[in-house]
Amino acid sequence: MNKVKQTRVLVLDDDKFMLEFVSHLLRELGVNEVLVAEDGKAGLFVLSAQVAAVDLLICDIEMPGMDGIEFLRNIADQNYRGRIVLFSGVNPDLLKATERLATARGLNIIGTLAKPVTVGSLATILEQLSSPALKSIDSSRMRQIFDVEEIKQALIAGHIDLFYQPKVSVSSGHVTSVECLARWRHAEYGYVSPDSFIPVIEQCGLINELTRNVLTKAAQQLDVWLQQGLDLKVSVNVSMENLDRFNLPEVYEKAVRDCNVPIDRMILEITESKLGKDFAQTLDILTRIRLKGFGLAIDDFGTGYSSMETLKHMPFTELKVDRIFAHGAAADPATRAMLESSIKLGRVFGLNVVVEGIEIKADYELAAALGCDEIQGYFIAKPMPPDEFIKWLSEYEKINHKY
Ligand code: C2E
Ligand code: MG
Ligand code: MG
Repeated sequence: MNKVKQTRVLVLDDDKFMLEFVSHLLRELGVNEVLVAEDGKAGLFVLSAQVAAVDLLICDIEMPGMDGIEFLRNIADQNYRGRIVLFSGVNPDLLKATERLATARGLNIIGTLAKPVTVGSLATILEQLSSPALKSIDSSRMRQIFDVEEIKQALIAGHIDLFYQPKVSVSSGHVTSVECLARWRHAEYGYVSPDSFIPVIEQCGLINELTRNVLTKAAQQLDVWLQQGLDLKVSVNVSMENLDRFNLPEVYEKAVRDCNVPIDRMILEITESKLGKDFAQTLDILTRIRLKGFGLAIDDFGTGYSSMETLKHMPFTELKVDRIFAHGAAADPATRAMLESSIKLGRVFGLNVVVEGIEIKADYELAAALGCDEIQGYFIAKPMPPDEFIKWLSEYEKINHKY
């Protein structure tokens, strides 16, 4: 409870009675410092006026003036790092949509509270405060991680490693291929995730260096595995920032040919949401990549806006359904409907349909029953360094792997 005592909470609600009531309950539960605001603008003012950080925000969605959604947009722009609880009397769908929106903006939503608020529901929220915060890296540490020069040096020094995550065939249960995922081996922080350094690499114009580097490492690894008798393909992520040069198909082809591996065992993954910057140029490059023999996957399918058009015109061989349509699909009819229609669409276009982000058996079984070809996700295995992957694979192949 010590943690609760030191917590600074800001409650936003246009209803004065509700503000007093919730503040009273929080104090009863041991919180020393409760701040209040009657609408979004007042909330922003209170936040900016604080010397110390506000740890927990309890935010109503419906407020006159600046409403909860506008308020959340503003604090996301200001990189608010504290935890947030949404509360409202609005219908649950609207509350859920607001939660998704806030999460998509990078905010740390730890729960929702339906009105009327009770001591019990508030106590449950406060209990979560004793668990470590998800986004607890402070800004000075973040800056250090995002330092462009440091990332450049890491690239030159070969500190970008590849982890491998298996994809398994639903019909045979066998591992068909692995996706190569970049990790920065950092002396101080251990393995740093790609989301923390790839955007910087893209911005500073080094993405072609990274892709060539990753492609070469992936092809070398594939060569080793093929020589060991493994029947695998490898997938490499290609950033859209890469697709700015007409000679890319030749560059990629050379990187693979230099390692003597068959090109048709390499799949390039392109994120859907970034397709279509320059339609003719993208189509030109992707079509020639296919002509060279590479497989071509549309990654994170469903997160972009041009799904149908893109699928119709671009020469893809594989569709990877984004994990937001897979995670929890067995338990949520709306998610299930989106998963089902994405799989159907992929099949109509004759693509190899992969469902990503499967974490539990129920979702695996659902995706399989809905007709996808391959599954990738923590339920099968997390991304691993190559030696760990080989150990995992031999264990996996020993058991009957059809779930
Ligand atoms: P992606 O290509 O969609 O890769 C899948 C991401 O989902 C990986 O995150 C993987 O670790 C994660 N994942 C797989 N299964 C599950 C699951 O069951 N649950 C959850 N919660 N996550 C799962 P990772 O490795 O952090 O990579 C993030 C993104 O960074 C990748 O998304 C890809 O877009 C990008 N990326 C990774 N490596 C490279 C690279 O070499 N080049 C480029 N351009 N982008 C890369
Ligand atoms: Mg990918
Ligand atoms: Mg993906």
